[in-house]
Amino acid sequence: MTSTSAAIEAVSIGKDFGNFTALDNVSMQIDAGEFVTFLGPSGSGKTTLLMILAGFEASTRGALLVDGFDRTDSPAEARGFGMVFQGYALFPHMSVADNIAFPLKVQKRPSAEIRARVAEMIDLVGLSGHAHKKPSGLSGGQQQRVALARALAYEPPVLLLDEPFSALDKNLRGQMQDEMRRIHAQMGTTFVFVTHDQSEALALSSRIAIFDHGTLQQIATPSNVYERPANRFVAEFLGDINVFPARFDAGTAHLDATRIDLPMPIPTGATHLAVRPENMTLLAAEAPGALPCRVVDRVYMGATSRLHLQALASQTSIVLDHPTASLPAIAEPGREIWVHWAPSVSLIF
Ligand code: ATP
Repeated sequence: MTSTSAAIEAVSIGKDFGNFTALDNVSMQIDAGEFVTFLGPSGSGKTTLLMILAGFEASTRGALLVDGFDRTDSPAEARGFGMVFQGYALFPHMSVADNIAFPLKVQKRPSAEIRARVAEMIDLVGLSGHAHKKPSGLSGGQQQRVALARALAYEPPVLLLDEPFSALDKNLRGQMQDEMRRIHAQMGTTFVFVTHDQSEALALSSRIAIFDHGTLQQIATPSNVYERPANRFVAEFLGDINVFPARFDAGTAHLDATRIDLPMPIPTGATHLAVRPENMTLLAAEAPGALPCRVVDRVYMGATSRLHLQALASQTSIVLDHPTASLPAIAEPGREIWVHWAPSVSLIF
């Protein structure tokens, strides 16, 4: 099953509420069929931009193009994008099938087409056997599937989703994420998804747009935003990271007395070197580029264990994640050890 899909371009979008700027100069291009996630802390402007894309909110500055046509001033109905919100907003007195059929009936599609389309959508979201139930007879995850099926039934060119899984428990959320990936791949519709859950964004998206205080910090693939963050905010927002004050000269970082030869260019004015906890290893003896530390604590977390360390010279606190099964004997609180990482995984800010 494939559907229509549209490309979206935001050109220098700005939004003011009174004298508060909620979005500032946001530009991005979303290709037809992409799955783009807006990620950022509370209040960073994600929902505001989604509402501007939907046509529910007018931008104060900038333009919005859909498939190259200027739609900045088009009302929501003219855009015809599908929407799924956190609250499912299903009609409580209607069955699953009638809920899904509703937008098709509004469009006055022929009844044979509506029946076929509803059956196809129920199958797509895995609700066969539930077609005649009322929403109150469904679990939260099932209700969210109905909302998704209803939004996709009339083949919108773009589906906008605002925190659709935030009311679901962790397991159900994981299941719904898998479903979403499958449905997106099957439909080919452009999906724009808002979340403040980093792991959800990493798992689902073809690209992630990261916002802070109404500005777009970076838009890139999940592996690029995680492994090659554009700045310290993005690096710290996407997961735990160790940040060391450093001095840089001609291809080398100096962390206390430790020299690390770096394979990447060093931006001018760089002051810090950062490393993710899972990229560090422990050494029992000194080696080039290794930082002498003391093990402060060891926390069992199941598949991995987290070691809390302290750099001997600078006293900087460090966290290191190690697979529990292969944790070396030197990972004992009180021990003096060396921490090492491949220079190429260093991030420079
Ligand atoms: P959350 O994850 O909490 O939903 P968000 O990133 O989606 O946050 P927005 O809802 O886009 O953030 O809000 C961005 C900023 O704009 C916030 O500071 C919010 O208070 C402000 N804001 C949003 N809508 C309005 C409004 N109608 N009037 C005044 N301020 C608003």
